[in-house]
Amino acid sequence: MAGPSIQLNSEVKYLKGVGPARAELLASRGIQTVEDLLYYTPFRYEDRTRLSRIRDLVPGQFTTIFAKVLTSGLTRTRKRGTYIYDLACTDLSAMLRCKWFNALYLEKNKVFRPGQQVFFYGKVERDQYGTGNLQMIQPQFEILPEKEEGGESLELNRVVPIYEGIGVLSTRVLRRLVATALSAATDSMPDHLPATVRARNSLFERAAALRATHFPDAQSPLEQVASFRTPAQVRLIFEEFFGVGAGLSLRKRKAKLAAGIEFKVTERARQMIKKILPFHPTRAQKRVLKDIADDMCSPHPMNRLVQGDVGSGKTIVAIQAAILAMANGFQVVLMAPTEILATQHFLYIKSLLASLPFQVDLLISARKAGEKASMKRQLAEGGIHLIVGTHALIEGDVEFAQLGLVVIDEQHRFGVMQRFKLIHKGPAPDVLVMTATPIPRTLALTLYGDLDFSVIDELPPNRTPIETRLVLERDRDRAFEFIRKKVAKGEQAYVVYPVIEEGGKLDLKPAVRMYEHLANNVYPEFKVGLLHGRLPSNEKEGVMQRFKHNEVQVLVSTTVVEVGVDVPNASVMVIEHADRFGLSQLHQLRGRIGRGRAKSYCLLLAEEPFSDIAAERLRTITETNDGFKISEIDLKLRGPGEFFGTRQWGIPAFRIANLLRDQEILEWAKREASEFVEHPPSRQEFEAYVTYLRKEWPRRYGLAGVA
Ligand code: ADP
Ligand code: MG
Repeated sequence: MAGPSIQLNSEVKYLKGVGPARAELLASRGIQTVEDLLYYTPFRYEDRTRLSRIRDLVPGQFTTIFAKVLTSGLTRTRKRGTYIYDLACTDLSAMLRCKWFNALYLEKNKVFRPGQQVFFYGKVERDQYGTGNLQMIQPQFEILPEKEEGGESLELNRVVPIYEGIGVLSTRVLRRLVATALSAATDSMPDHLPATVRARNSLFERAAALRATHFPDAQSPLEQVASFRTPAQVRLIFEEFFGVGAGLSLRKRKAKLAAGIEFKVTERARQMIKKILPFHPTRAQKRVLKDIADDMCSPHPMNRLVQGDVGSGKTIVAIQAAILAMANGFQVVLMAPTEILATQHFLYIKSLLASLPFQVDLLISARKAGEKASMKRQLAEGGIHLIVGTHALIEGDVEFAQLGLVVIDEQHRFGVMQRFKLIHKGPAPDVLVMTATPIPRTLALTLYGDLDFSVIDELPPNRTPIETRLVLERDRDRAFEFIRKKVAKGEQAYVVYPVIEEGGKLDLKPAVRMYEHLANNVYPEFKVGLLHGRLPSNEKEGVMQRFKHNEVQVLVSTTVVEVGVDVPNASVMVIEHADRFGLSQLHQLRGRIGRGRAKSYCLLLAEEPFSDIAAERLRTITETNDGFKISEIDLKLRGPGEFFGTRQWGIPAFRIANLLRDQEILEWAKREASEFVEHPPSRQEFEAYVTYLRKEWPRRYGLAGVA
């Protein structure tokens, strides 16, 4: 065992059994210290107190067996180019086959040898020959070394933790390293969770929690262990959520205390808004505008997220806030994620505000250098009141005379850093971020814990729900005929093509070919347009404008139209290869139609067979228009990591907590965390915890600027 010099914050390479190579592998998962290793928790457990006998196995069961290898080797299958690694083993009660597809590495690395004792975990199935023999397909396995080196009790006759392997570090190696770390460091393991919070919530103490999470006590009920609800596991999950919750509460409190601009809702501002409003706002829009106006009139900076499903009418709400700021003599910046969307916003706002005494301009990288320079000069002098643009706006030389309001549209497309850069262009501007991505409610708590939150939960009147249908490839002509009928009636259509990225390059050919085919062969009588991200800016803008004015009736496009584009007369969308799109993306794309009075149709072209996940996505999208439902299902299908593309959202990468499994613990910990920040039990406890958070959490969860 390691000497007494090992501390929690010792580098993991000093731990017995970890050399430089292993340390590097561990570092690839963010494991740098002994403490990090202790928080590398199992994702599953195996009950090896009650192993199944092969003779008693039943098809369909997930189980662990312990058996001796008889033979193993690679066989070629009838289908060319595929191999099966086939292993026979026995536990004396009977024999079992295990099979892995294309697992050449098993052969190459000579993983199995006759006589080895191995745990296999997997689903029991009948073999495909109808012999009644059983097999396991692609089981997970753990080989016991032939010469036992002591510590046998870690993997036999108990509930055994299973870790996600890290490169060549198998679950077995990791288990031993964790065991070493636990025995080396538990003596020096202070508990940072405030004692009052721990006592009030009857939470396990940290050292005991870590130990029993890795190596559950023999008396813990197995279901509890498997569902991560033992007191030990709950304590660690709580600890993570509490830390993130406290960090966000602190950040929010700090923002609330800062001095900001105190805007006034003057009669002049009211009149201006009344004059330009093109329609009656919905109740939801009014309510959200009131939230915003209240924030703007308070002496502290606004930090508000407005969430509204596609087409719910976020733009006009932002425009009203912008007028309020400008009527108070301040400048406004509106940032959008694409040039197409920025240009559309600019043109819309310019025409809407034509009768008001405000200067509006557009800053995107495509504009001429001279124009950009003059715009920047005017911004710095206060000659431009509202500037719309893309991330070109965050460049260092864009300065403002009097920045009062920052609006970020489609905020999920931007990184947290971009948001901060823009905000720092004024001393303390109010900030309004908008997103159409419906965030499942519990996630909003973690993601945007430092923002206030308003929802536009109502669509503008006279919308009929979009009808979405799956159309198989062989019926493609019918989809095109359907478009013809609609366009003949004066409506317009999108044909969306997925663009496949190959070796870092976008393959636009299929989209271009489709455009030519539609323009020349299918719709010679209509104007067909083509839009993709690689077109020069002025061409993009030209096509968009012609589509907007119905001079183009059918727009073939890549997913560049996904965000924000608003052409209410377009009522049909055909999505090619719909099975390749993610669920939320399909919903966003579909949100380009259903914006006007005509009933809209979304036709999903796809070819069978679909993968299970693709089938589930297509079923969901055809059955519901509800963005919340869709995002919940999307999250389930993809898992939190992929759903949020991690860092970009600023979502912490939790170690043991799981946003899907642990929602109720999240809410509980979050409540406790804000209570702790708002009403600290004692100054001493508060300061100790804040010091700990400030030191540890930026590295652990990227929660910068906690307090
Ligand atoms: P999103 O929330 O997706 O950004 P937009 O702001 O683009 O939605 O609005 C969608 C469409 O609905 C636009 O054509 C807009 O002019 C229209 N719209 C918004 N609010 C209303 C309303 N209260 N009444 C009628 N039409 C509205
Ligand atoms: Mg929008």
